[in-house]
Amino acid sequence: MGILWLNEIGKNDIPLAGGKGANLGELLRNEIPVPNGFVVDSKTFIEFMEATGILYQVNDMLRGLDVEDTENLEKTSKKIREIIESSEIPKVIEEEIRNAYRELCSEEGEEVFVAVRSSATAEDLPEASFAGQQETYLNVRGEDDVVDKVRKCWSSLYTPRAIYYRVQQGFRHDEVSIAVVVQKMVNSEKSGVMFTSHPVTGEKQCIIEAAFGLGEAIVSGAVSPDTYVYDRKSGKLIDVNIAEKKIMITRSEDGETVKVELPPEKAKERVLSDEEIEELVKFAELIENHYGNPQDVEWGIERGKVYILQSRAITTIKERKEEKAVKGDVRILLKGLGASPGIGIGKVKVIESEREISKVEEGDILVTTMTTPDMVPAMKRASAIVTDEGGMTCHAAIVSRELGVPAVVGTKEATKVLKDGMVVTVDGEKGVVYEGAVEVEKREEKVEVQTAGRIITATEVKVNISIPDGAKRAYATGADGVGLFRIEHMVLGLPKHPMKYIRDGEIEEYIQKLYEGMKEVVETFYPKPVWIRTLDAPTDEFRAMEGGENEPIEANPMLGFRGIRRDLIEDIHFRAEIRAIKRLVEEGFTNVGIMIPLVTRVEEVRQAKRIIQEEGLDLSKIEFGVMVETPAAALIIDDIIDVGIDFISFGTNDLTQYTLAIDRNNENVAYMYDETHPAVMKLIEHVINACRKRGVKTSICGQAGSYPHVVEKLVKLGIDSVSANPDAVQMVRETIARVEKKLILNRLRGLDA
Ligand code: PEP
Ligand code: MG
Repeated sequence: MGILWLNEIGKNDIPLAGGKGANLGELLRNEIPVPNGFVVDSKTFIEFMEATGILYQVNDMLRGLDVEDTENLEKTSKKIREIIESSEIPKVIEEEIRNAYRELCSEEGEEVFVAVRSSATAEDLPEASFAGQQETYLNVRGEDDVVDKVRKCWSSLYTPRAIYYRVQQGFRHDEVSIAVVVQKMVNSEKSGVMFTSHPVTGEKQCIIEAAFGLGEAIVSGAVSPDTYVYDRKSGKLIDVNIAEKKIMITRSEDGETVKVELPPEKAKERVLSDEEIEELVKFAELIENHYGNPQDVEWGIERGKVYILQSRAITTIKERKEEKAVKGDVRILLKGLGASPGIGIGKVKVIESEREISKVEEGDILVTTMTTPDMVPAMKRASAIVTDEGGMTCHAAIVSRELGVPAVVGTKEATKVLKDGMVVTVDGEKGVVYEGAVEVEKREEKVEVQTAGRIITATEVKVNISIPDGAKRAYATGADGVGLFRIEHMVLGLPKHPMKYIRDGEIEEYIQKLYEGMKEVVETFYPKPVWIRTLDAPTDEFRAMEGGENEPIEANPMLGFRGIRRDLIEDIHFRAEIRAIKRLVEEGFTNVGIMIPLVTRVEEVRQAKRIIQEEGLDLSKIEFGVMVETPAAALIIDDIIDVGIDFISFGTNDLTQYTLAIDRNNENVAYMYDETHPAVMKLIEHVINACRKRGVKTSICGQAGSYPHVVEKLVKLGIDSVSANPDAVQMVRETIARVEKKLILNRLRGLDA
């Protein structure tokens, strides 16, 4: 025992092979060509832990550990992981792993690239329950590296999150184990994705997207793929759309992912032959029949052979049942901004600070002045959130949209009007709080197939993220990537101020935390691009943190010490962020991009790039861009482009406040806040035109990107992508599809757009 080859296992082998291994084996068993590989089974991990004596040491360290004491939890986790990662693996076990890797290589006659993925298992527990807690390493090559990564996967069973989760769920630490999947990576000449059935109508039509080279090109949007629609009932190819595929992404000899330009003839060549399509459809049918529901499948063709790389059920998300007109006479208690749609009914719990979050029980209505990152656990339990302060882009608004919890913000007096124990109904769409449990007219429960998001649009639709916990939900929207990952929400949720970590000589701990949070998002979306925005929080938000006492008191924090200007003064902090990102890139996650906030000067962009290069992060491997969120940046865009950027993203929340002199969080002037004000639109138009001329991608990640009337204008101006809140992705995609069609139609009719 110890090594299980994928073709020897199936769905019943979860306890030994972990969910991932078992599922891949299950596909193989059903004659689906999955790249070959093996699993270092969960017993091997136990053997390693016992033979080295680590198991007893670890059990001692975990006995009686108070997981709510975050600092201690993290210290213990770090110690355990260090012990595991520095321990020799018993020779017999190590030899087994080396032999298996050698055998895998012998099929090719050379050392092969593999992916090494960990997969926790527990009897009677689906692996999904541990989702997101495991490490994955891509493009690993060579025996030593494979052994090292297996050990790293083992140690990931003891991340602080994993330990915390087990305690919360009532598992004993010695009840769980971990298997590691080592699988050949496919270097595809052609690749793509396919829906086994139509993602919107459910008809038996297989929709295939294909491009030359690795799948990254399609998923990252670097290339528009060919699209083929195959009607499975009539057995006919009913639609073929050949795109111009200007580039392909491929893997070089040394494992680097490189972009290659295609000559014009090749670019216009059809990717898939009729035979290849039929081959793919055959597997689509087999997989769908096996799982009993439509699947979203990733595939690749290497040396003429089709490989199935992954298969997931097409995500369907049930809309909340509410969404209806309120019936009868009702009393309105409060009005504010509808910041996150849906209706929540429950008992009010007013909390003054994060110290009181335990008051909020499952299904309660969380009422507070303004939420903070420390309140996120309570926000998750709440059936709705109501705040006194804030606009559409405040913490409560952003996070509740990501969590899918209805929210009304900026009510001015929720904490006074609402009292503990009162039952209320919160309408997060209309921005109203009603007295009592209001009867709502139930519409038929609508099941929304999120991958309806796969309506193919030329303008990409991305999603905004601010808490790593929201990554899975955001991914389920079918978005083409993350257009804004606001890391400050994660940073503000840490036990202490980032500069305190640095002052305390704990920069490595801080980098590790950044890295872990970033990785959760980057891994979930891999290989779709994730633009990580470097830190941007105003001083007033930092002050409440431990070690934040010295934050300068500013009359106007929005115009103060924040964004890139701060990171260039405290460049040690900027370097920490870059080091965390560099670690991800070194692990093979080249789907990260860096985005610099609040740029006002060319020198800031130049300096930021210099520091990134000094840290040894190769900018030719990843995308680098700036936010255009000040009139200054918009007006000097040509000079910024001269410094060398791949993309810009409009931060319309700030661009609007700085152009119109309206504090974005001030309810008193909210009525004048208008992202479509002609002055704002002129700046946007100027920037899009300049970027188009110079081949720089344009995007929007401000709240306005979630509003159809703004999206319509931006698509007409020629924006390349729109990044919206998770709840708005589908609607934005539909808007874009409609506008793009209208543009083509008007062109055909000889009309202006
Ligand atoms: C913006 O300003 O539009 C933006 C997206 O950044 P933030 O809201 O985080 O300032
Ligand atoms: Mg901003």
